[in-house]
Amino acid sequence: MEIATKCPICETLGNAIPVYPSNVDDTSFSTEVFSARRLPDRRHYQWVRCNSCTLLRSDPVLDVDLEKLYVESTFDYSTEVDGLKRTYFDLVMKALSGKKLKKSIFEVGGGNGFFLEAAKDGGFLSVAGVEPSTEAINAAREDIKPTMIASMMKSGVLTPNSFEVGTMFHTLDHLPDPVGTLKDCYEALASDGVFIVAVHNERSWSAKLMKERSPIIDVEHTHLYTRKSGEALFKKAGFIDVKSGAYNNHYSLAYILHLIPISRAFRKKVLESSIGTMLSKIKVVVPLGNMWIAGTKP
Ligand SMILES: [Zn+2]
Repeated sequence: MEIATKCPICETLGNAIPVYPSNVDDTSFSTEVFSARRLPDRRHYQWVRCNSCTLLRSDPVLDVDLEKLYVESTFDYSTEVDGLKRTYFDLVMKALSGKKLKKSIFEVGGGNGFFLEAAKDGGFLSVAGVEPSTEAINAAREDIKPTMIASMMKSGVLTPNSFEVGTMFHTLDHLPDPVGTLKDCYEALASDGVFIVAVHNERSWSAKLMKERSPIIDVEHTHLYTRKSGEALFKKAGFIDVKSGAYNNHYSLAYILHLIPISRAFRKKVLESSIGTMLSKIKVVVPLGNMWIAGTKP
């Protein structure tokens, strides 16, 4: 069944211009498709742009049990974890802009908790993760596993008013109700706590260049943000002192090849060959069009 979606910022149905037509079919919803950071397969709903706030959203969408798909999703991004740990820890420090907050941190949707490893190793005294995939949690480091809760983020999953810092990396654009989830994260923060997300910027050079072939135009993504619409979403959830900025990724050349819009079969062939092994060892710093957004709970 098709469901019309509302702009989460303006709360309006319709009032939007079509940008890309849908190419979704019945095979678009498998557990494999909903595994994080898989090879992009370019399936997407119709994308529309809100006339009032410019936010891009999937509209209409199909009636799919997302929670079930994410709970069962598999976990397959081990080769890039070292680069991502560094990238995410650096951007959290940048977003905290000198604030000495190292007592407690939580992460929503963090797969096997690799960022929580980086946070703990980087000096955070207490860490917690909320992650729906049990397979991902089972792959967590032994000291991180007991700190992870197998759930979608909801009100009450974390103790209210208890964390100094909250984080969510490349999850915001997957959420069906982004304002609701941001409010649930807000609830878990102590007063003066900071919430930080990393997310694609749909106005980045790579998104503009690849247009519909960009890996961000995907059936998994419910909304796509700019710094302006991302900041507006944070303010709507109650955050103050909202800021945003660009960040660069530490990636291997093999991962970059994942993202390029060439045939999936060709990519797979190259990545599984000795050239792929070599490419996975070459690390580069790339401005791929990602941004961070941060806000403080008053
Ligand atoms: Zn809007």
